[in-house]
Amino acid sequence: MQDTRFHEFLHRQIPMLVGLSLVPGLAYIFLGWLHDVFVPAVGWYVLMLLTAAWGIHLYRSFDAATMSETRREQWYTQCSRLVYAFFTLWALIFLIYVRLDAYKLHYIAIFTEIGASVVASSLLASDKRLFRPTILVLMIPLTVYFTLIGEWYAYVLAIFSTILTWVLLYAARSTNTLLMQTRHQATHDALSGLYNRQYFIEHLQRRMNSLNESGEHGYLLLIDLDHFKTVNDTLGHDVGDRLLQGVVERLLDTAPDHCVVARLGGDEFIITGGSFTQRDACEAEALDVARQLLSALKTPYVVGAHQLYISASIGVSLLGPGDCNANRFIKEADIAMYEVKEKGRDGVFVFDAEMARRVEGDLEIERLLHFALPRGEITLHYQPQVDRAGRIIGAESLVRWTSPTLGTVPPDRFIPIAEQTGLIIELGRHILETAFRTLGDWHRAGLVLKQFSVNISMRQFTHPGFAAQVEELVRRHLDPVVVQTLMFEITETVVAEDIEGVIRTMQRLKALGIRFSMDDFGTGYSSLSHLNRLPLDELKVDRAFVLALRDDDGDRAMVVTILNMAKLFGLNTVAEGVETAAQHAFLMHHGCGMFQGYFHSKPLARDAFELFVQDNAATRNAI
Ligand code: C2E
Ligand code: MG
Ligand code: MG
Repeated sequence: MQDTRFHEFLHRQIPMLVGLSLVPGLAYIFLGWLHDVFVPAVGWYVLMLLTAAWGIHLYRSFDAATMSETRREQWYTQCSRLVYAFFTLWALIFLIYVRLDAYKLHYIAIFTEIGASVVASSLLASDKRLFRPTILVLMIPLTVYFTLIGEWYAYVLAIFSTILTWVLLYAARSTNTLLMQTRHQATHDALSGLYNRQYFIEHLQRRMNSLNESGEHGYLLLIDLDHFKTVNDTLGHDVGDRLLQGVVERLLDTAPDHCVVARLGGDEFIITGGSFTQRDACEAEALDVARQLLSALKTPYVVGAHQLYISASIGVSLLGPGDCNANRFIKEADIAMYEVKEKGRDGVFVFDAEMARRVEGDLEIERLLHFALPRGEITLHYQPQVDRAGRIIGAESLVRWTSPTLGTVPPDRFIPIAEQTGLIIELGRHILETAFRTLGDWHRAGLVLKQFSVNISMRQFTHPGFAAQVEELVRRHLDPVVVQTLMFEITETVVAEDIEGVIRTMQRLKALGIRFSMDDFGTGYSSLSHLNRLPLDELKVDRAFVLALRDDDGDRAMVVTILNMAKLFGLNTVAEGVETAAQHAFLMHHGCGMFQGYFHSKPLARDAFELFVQDNAATRNAI
């Protein structure tokens, strides 16, 4: 398979060949006119002109971006013929002039032949199929000519020209080997030996052009290993590399022969294949291949003394006629792959219109979110937290975005986008500052809470400047007494990060008096050992478990287990999403410490929260 760069190189040689043939060719007409070979010389030059015109046509018809593989191959065949034609013509002028020794034109003919061979050896070194026949076509007549002279010096020249032929072939071959090695390095990934990203994109672009021409469909599978980072982090890069090599073997064994497999980088691989007239058939094969890959990859690997298991998430995008942008399809497969990751990994999804709509929506949110902060569209609401005696003793701040274009956008929707785009750092700072200001104001106004919770996103928490930022904001807005009421809510996703780093940050903030709560407990994948290591103060029972208290015995047991475990670890408990008296009663019965949910109050704007607390106090006093 020849890549674009090879064809582009050949393409660039065409004007060179045309120029080197037409300009010196004029001198031969002049010499022909001087020495009675004008008609053959002109005839020869006309042939040269026709060949040059063909060359220019080939030069113009080349377009790397849109040519299909078939058209490119056709172009290459034509181009080879063009090269043969040019050099055959040079061999022809040699044959015409070499006979004219009376006029000493044979010297010029000999020089022409040698010169043309040197040109062929250097300009055509990139392709064995071009330089070999060309050098031979030029040099053999010269050697034969010397031999036929029949004099001793001519035999020596015949030997010299044979040696020169060998040298030219040798030089071209060495250059060719070097070029091939460089090309291999430039197009392949060193660890896996697979094609690299850059080559794959070029290949995909050519495939898309072919599919566009034939009206057929193909597929693209993007494969990302699940939790590969853990293998690297826990067992070292050596083991990681060998595992990757094992994965590559299975990919190559399992993917159909016609597929091209490449490594995009890290633990990401990509496969393209298929030529189907029907989209459905294409999708069916893509899914079939993906499932076979999933099961092949899951068989255990033996790396040194370790037995390793790894699964993968595969995103599929279907390539169809009409759209020609290779990168777009990779992006689509990537989106589908992330969808698999979100839904629990170890599976396959095909990119579809629904995903496309969501991605467009995400892009719109991302775009508008940039303006939301400076335009003051981001505010905080506060949801009361109530103790076992029914007193409001805390609040959780919850961010709200009211966009003039999109209306109210729920935090579940825009926080993940802010995390992906890095905007969470700026947004998180704004949230912290607003929350701290409110907390400070309330305290000064006599609205004293035992705890004030702020949600901290994982990306924000693990950002290098986070602890320093909190220290600075605390210094600016809060008295040391008030800091003691601060509770940062983190989620179980932090444990997927560098756990030592997380603990260090937590400890630095705990030194200020800030406490920590594990939010949405039970929905992530933290283990008991992690829970034990993190300096936590509180567990929040996720509202999904509270919601399921209605009927499901399994989830009742879950809530009870979480509450008991918290007690065992000496942690306070808050139940989220308490909506009914029955849920409240059940949680009370099992020793839950605090309650938060619509049963008591929805999240409220700052003024409304202040009124709510006043009313609550008034009611309690009245009682
Ligand atoms: P979370 O921290 O678990 O917040 C609790 C969510 O449950 C809030 O949703 C709250 O409005 C909702 N909720 C409370 N009581 C009830 C109830 O009785 N029934 C039902 N159905 N829902 C209830 P919200 O405000 O939409 O926030 C969703 C998530 O967005 C939060 O979950 C949190 O993970 C994230 N989030 C919210 N504000 C912030 C923030 O300031 N920073 C960061 N990083 N994340 C935030
Ligand atoms: Mg929360
Ligand atoms: Mg929660």
